[in-house]
Amino acid sequence: MPRPDPAVLRPRLPSPLQEIEDDPFARRGVRLLLKRDDLIHPDLPGNKWRKLAPNLRAAAAAGERALLTFGGAYSNHLRATAAAGRLLGFATIGVVRGDELAAAPLNPSLARCAADGMRLHFIDRSRYRRKTDPDVLAGLHDRFGAFRVIPEGGSNSLAAEGCTELGRELRGAADTVAVACGTGGTLAGLAAGLGPDQQAVGIPVLRGGGDGPHFLQETVEELQRAAFGGPRGDWRLDDRFHCGGYARSTPALTAFADAFEDRHGLPLERTYVAKLLYGLTTLAEEGAFAPGSRVAAVITGMP
Ligand SMILES: *Cc1c(COP(=O)(O)O)cnc(C)c1O
Repeated sequence: MPRPDPAVLRPRLPSPLQEIEDDPFARRGVRLLLKRDDLIHPDLPGNKWRKLAPNLRAAAAAGERALLTFGGAYSNHLRATAAAGRLLGFATIGVVRGDELAAAPLNPSLARCAADGMRLHFIDRSRYRRKTDPDVLAGLHDRFGAFRVIPEGGSNSLAAEGCTELGRELRGAADTVAVACGTGGTLAGLAAGLGPDQQAVGIPVLRGGGDGPHFLQETVEELQRAAFGGPRGDWRLDDRFHCGGYARSTPALTAFADAFEDRHGLPLERTYVAKLLYGLTTLAEEGAFAPGSRVAAVITGMP
């Protein structure tokens, strides 16, 4: 039987909050704080703990023994789900985007999933886009039996509720809190958990596509509707820092991240965290933060 409560894994909560002295901020009289969610749990780091824990609790309470979720070949969420399954006794099924991968050797990320006991199922990209359609899910049930579906990136209303705790931990500690966004669940919950005088900023790492608002604007609004019944908190997106899109980079981003690592001896996760700090540093240089204000960056993962 699955263990009923992920608290048996002894997460480090509240996660540590560390102030660092960083010149681009200090020059403008702005204090920079790192919210070290990467230290919550070695196998379920960062927001992945906060998003998965309520889903695992709900699955255990409902007597469900298997979790099925979706992701790309390098998905942190797939790895976290596989680890949670091993540690808590759930069977896990990972539906992976790209049927061409089925014939190739597993990359290190998928190899970790497999080593944690996750059954990997590769589907082509067009089917992957329709992954939550009833006929696709019915096909997965025929193949794998009963399971609880956790969406891509783990972002559902339970996940958003789980991330409100991140906001609550930061009440009174910062004026602005910023987080990198993939599927938006973390920002949706963070903003809902902050106090009334705090603002959340989301830095999307995916390209929004087009001149209009980034697609995450609507996604985060929908997640907040589903989780809390309506909009919560003061939040906005700044979509200038995706650097070409998911897992893409630019020479400027690489130079920034290398220099930040050198200044602080802190390795930066490049898909999300480097873009977050690059964006925040640019905002500080633009004068977006008042002198004397405190800016907290949520460190959602380590390399
Ligand atoms: C998954 C992930 C995110 C994105 O979280 P969302 O809730 O999907 O927006 C940010 N940082 C890291 C390191 C992640 O693994």
